[in-house]
Amino acid sequence: MNYEEILKNQRNYFNSNQTKAIEFRIEQLKKLKKLIKNRESVFYEAIYKDFKKSEFDTYTTELNIIYQEIEESIQKLPKWSRRKKAWTNLLNLPARSYIISEPLGVCLIIGAWNYPLQLTFAPLVAAIAAGNTAIIKPSEISSATSAAIAQLINENFPSEFMVVVEGGVTETTELLEQKFDKIFFTGSTTVGKIVYQAAAKNLTPVTLELGGKSPAIVTRNSNIKDTAKRLVWAKFLNSGQTCIAPDYVFVDVIVKDELLLHLKDFIRKFNYSFENDNYVQIIDEKNFHRLTGLIDPSKVYSGGESNLQKRYIAPTILTSITFEDKVMENEIFGPILPVISFSDLNDAILKIKSRPKPLACYIFTNDRSSRNRMLNELSFGGGAINDSVMHISNSNLPFGGVGNSGTGSYHGEAGFIAFSHFKSILDKPFWFEPNLKYPPYSALKLSWIKYLIGR
Ligand code: NAD
Repeated sequence: MNYEEILKNQRNYFNSNQTKAIEFRIEQLKKLKKLIKNRESVFYEAIYKDFKKSEFDTYTTELNIIYQEIEESIQKLPKWSRRKKAWTNLLNLPARSYIISEPLGVCLIIGAWNYPLQLTFAPLVAAIAAGNTAIIKPSEISSATSAAIAQLINENFPSEFMVVVEGGVTETTELLEQKFDKIFFTGSTTVGKIVYQAAAKNLTPVTLELGGKSPAIVTRNSNIKDTAKRLVWAKFLNSGQTCIAPDYVFVDVIVKDELLLHLKDFIRKFNYSFENDNYVQIIDEKNFHRLTGLIDPSKVYSGGESNLQKRYIAPTILTSITFEDKVMENEIFGPILPVISFSDLNDAILKIKSRPKPLACYIFTNDRSSRNRMLNELSFGGGAINDSVMHISNSNLPFGGVGNSGTGSYHGEAGFIAFSHFKSILDKPFWFEPNLKYPPYSALKLSWIKYLIGR
């Protein structure tokens, strides 16, 4: 593919203003939804081929979110895109002030493999809703799904409006050499830095949806059994290959043993296996080896088994872990849950603050003051109190990271904002023209200005 040519065509198409009409955007969103719906079975098959993800998981954690994004955008687009009134200050009267949203232009969307549909279609929905054109680069690692996405888009939409480019590092590097009006990237912090640097060369605005080690903090006055149930579900969903999965549990030493027992018990009850369609494969051998290398057999509390041929790693809990263990160095991104204890919440807070800002944080407690303290003191992308992962399913909550875990956010209106520019306009009539601001200046003019400004 000639990327320069694609970009030129998209820019011409964008400049023709066709994508700006609200009716056009809504029509395209409806078309996209219909196409995805008609091909659900193709996507189920592709994702299953990539890593044995079941229809249940694909519907609940991918398609459902995409449909929700599309439906909400169709319904709320007229409101989001409406010109917003702003107050005019006394100095500028008589005048009207307002803010106009406008699409940014030609956008690049780069996806990750772990939720391969959601992570490409949800930003695409936002890009269309805001009136842009888009080049979409799904992850090459979930190759069957990447091909299915490419087929759907490239066979049904003109490439000057949207097009899928398949490929890995080479293709992405080449794409990043082009001048885009927006880059939306989902992936690792390491590659996020590469994308940010490439974008900086053209002063292209970015949204970076990155990763990190998201803690789940459990205080002594939490409901331990419910905490364990919610944590097990959130951690082992998608075999832990979820950007906002609880990476590790930081628990008050007083309730540690009780929590461990319940964690183990829920893993048993949930009966994770490929045969049940409630567990997925590790995406590839490289990640399989990386993950098994993080399991110190002397620290396994439960699980620990693995099978390279099946790319299977059992839900694993590690105990007696310290922050010096290898498993605590980088984001785990797999079915391994280290449990670390603290005896003083102050120390726990200090420890988390000393590490890079995580994408998510989960606070399990019934104690209002501990909860408020952590909410006030800890910086993280987003999270939940007494739950884990589920905040992503509420599109009224902008989703994104902070610091090392990302910049910018999306979902619902936040997605529309991410792909828009907001033009501020002061709109003046000609009939009133005080001479105050014009030379020659005088003390009298200055005192009038001070009076009008109110200072
Ligand atoms: P990755 O960074 O390896 O790859 C992401 C994308 O970047 C892929 O499309 C890939 O082709 C491309 N890429 C890889 N190396 C590149 C390079 N050198 N130059 C240019 N492009 C390159 O990430 P991944 O393994 O696909 O996904 C896992 C990571 O993504 C985890 O850290 C996870 O936390 C994060 N993630 C974040 C979110 C979020 O919403 N914040 C969602 C899912 C995954």
